Amino acid sequence: MRLADDARFVRGIGPKKAELLQKIGITTLEDAVQCYPRGYEDRTEITPICDLIDGEKQCIHAVVGAAPQTAHIRRGMDITRCKVYDESGTLALRFFNNRYAAAALETGAEYAFYGRVQREGRSMVMLSPEFEPVGAGEKTGRILPVYPLTAGLHQKDVYRVTDAALAAVPADYPDFLPESVREAQQLPPLSRALHSIHRPQDMAQAQQARRRIVFEELFLLSCGMRRLRERRSGSCGAQLRDLSLHAFYRALPFSLTSAQQRAIEACTLDIAAGRPLSRLIQGDVGSGKTMVAAALCYLAAKNGRQAVIMAPTELLARQHMQTLEPLLCKLGVSCGLLVGSMGVKQKRETTQAVESGDISVVIGTHAVLSETVQFHDLALAVVDEQHRFGVSQRATLTAKGENVHLLVMSATPIPRTLALLIYGDLDVSIIDELPPGRQKIKTYAVGENMRQRIDAFIDKQCAEGGQVYVVCPLVGDSETDETGRNSAEHTAERLAGVLPHRRIALVHGRTKAAEKEQIMADFAAGDIDILVSTTVIEVGVNVPNATLMVVEDGDCFGLSQLHQLRGRVGRGKRQSYCVFYGADRGKDARERLRTLVQTSDGFAIAQKDLEMRGAGDFFGTRQHGLPPMKLADLAGDTRLLEQAKREADRLIDRDPQLETEPLLRARVDKLFAQYGAGSFN
Ligand code: ADP
Ligand code: MG
Repeated sequence: MRLADDARFVRGIGPKKAELLQKIGITTLEDAVQCYPRGYEDRTEITPICDLIDGEKQCIHAVVGAAPQTAHIRRGMDITRCKVYDESGTLALRFFNNRYAAAALETGAEYAFYGRVQREGRSMVMLSPEFEPVGAGEKTGRILPVYPLTAGLHQKDVYRVTDAALAAVPADYPDFLPESVREAQQLPPLSRALHSIHRPQDMAQAQQARRRIVFEELFLLSCGMRRLRERRSGSCGAQLRDLSLHAFYRALPFSLTSAQQRAIEACTLDIAAGRPLSRLIQGDVGSGKTMVAAALCYLAAKNGRQAVIMAPTELLARQHMQTLEPLLCKLGVSCGLLVGSMGVKQKRETTQAVESGDISVVIGTHAVLSETVQFHDLALAVVDEQHRFGVSQRATLTAKGENVHLLVMSATPIPRTLALLIYGDLDVSIIDELPPGRQKIKTYAVGENMRQRIDAFIDKQCAEGGQVYVVCPLVGDSETDETGRNSAEHTAERLAGVLPHRRIALVHGRTKAAEKEQIMADFAAGDIDILVSTTVIEVGVNVPNATLMVVEDGDCFGLSQLHQLRGRVGRGKRQSYCVFYGADRGKDARERLRTLVQTSDGFAIAQKDLEMRGAGDFFGTRQHGLPPMKLADLAGDTRLLEQAKREADRLIDRDPQLETEPLLRARVDKLFAQYGAGSFN
């Protein structure tokens, strides 16, 4: 068979199995080659019965002592028992609902058994072992790859297909990793790596193969990100001649921190040099990133051009509008809002004004990405809370004008290595300074036993003129699950009972946009004491008078998310507090929440979060905008990532178009085309 052939034609695989294989991403044999094991079972080692370890899967060679006995326990449950022995001792085997397999065991014959061993009283049992005659070498005596499965699909099905696929891999299978890189990194050639990753002789071989494949994934990614960047920096940026910001600084109600000024300067320097601005502004919550965006929008408008700010939620877009419009208006710059919930007529009016150039600064949600939104003369795109958007959305936005400058803002501090990847196509400025007068937020991780005291504390904050956020993981009681997590509706009701004299409001994902906006406006104006919500208030929202953040069930949020929530308070001059419930939900939860009590450094928290949860969860269900990794673990493989990036840089410095490496170039293009980034070109 050939690699391009359909897996359906492999012996023993029919149309049914082929369908299941497709579910795990295998259509052709080539796909099967790239469906890597997610782990291995080392069945090479034979353990004497007397040395078996409780709780582990192990392999023994043993003789069947007596014919297996089956007992019928209840409907649908048979247990078959069998005693076996080797030179060191005897062991009980137990099979569940498998009397036929067990019946195949011949008394007096020696078999190799493999299964989990468990202590029961003074002796051990092996549960549901797999077995074969000693020396058969199929189920034991080798390292078995463990593939991802789906219901109805078995390891042996995947073995069949990968066996056929490996047989089809030629020894001179074209290797797209440049030889120089392979040599420098001491990586095996592709065909060998493929054989070893699927059918390793020993664990060292498997590891070496894994290293090669992970490196290759990270290398492709690094090359792709680097080329993306080259493509932008190869062109010249939109020209903005007048880069003076005096009027802007004068119009501000405060002076900017030096970190803010540095970030703005870095941007204007890029622009002045004629380069397209491609910069990420990373700064902790509350560090004042919005003002950096404002300064640049002002510059674009001042030069007769347009700017757009894209925020991930409507709430945030509206808040940006509220802060930026008065400021920019004072400077003679017209602003317009564009969000999904606007009426058709209003939307049309705004898009028309954008197209004609009457509106200079457009602030909106991903609604601004719509094809119906056309700019008169777009020169700057700002993407707020970038981790919510993918690389391709970034590209769509900048494609709405020519040589558009790009400014990306993120409050989710991302560990350095990961940032290298996700923002590999951007320069980075870090705002590492908070506006003056901010106090450290006092943070507590508490359990249910503190409920009354915290309720009283909420009341006290209100009495002193502060305001309180209470954030819950769920919206309504219909969603309350068996773990007993708190819903916003339930919490609002409960608080209304305990604190009847306080003004309490409720906002969540199902609240109508107009109502939500009204409530947020009331809260910002101080007309609401306690705002109970889900994480809709997570990003960016700014109410300086809020002094207390209470998070119900803090254990079911990510650390970075909790850190963001905490950033909603402590924005004014008064001492602020943050309380996380969930510290009584086990050791894990307590340790996680304690991280937040101990540190307010967003980067340290992000690193911890990444280590504890892995990259997939780190970004939550939302995409990080990178192509999916087959094998690489963005959290664990950081050293390889750095090496891959270095090699990619070295290669592309020498050969920006990858002209000497056509195979590699094709793979990079394919990878990046795959996730809808057609607009990269
Ligand atoms: P983030 O970086 O989280 O987006 P914002 O831009 O929303 O932060 O700023 C948070 C708050 O700090 C806002 O109320 C903003 O007006 C205020 N602020 C920003 N810069 C300064 C400054 N230099 N001095 C005082 N307050 C500032
Ligand atoms: Mg912000």
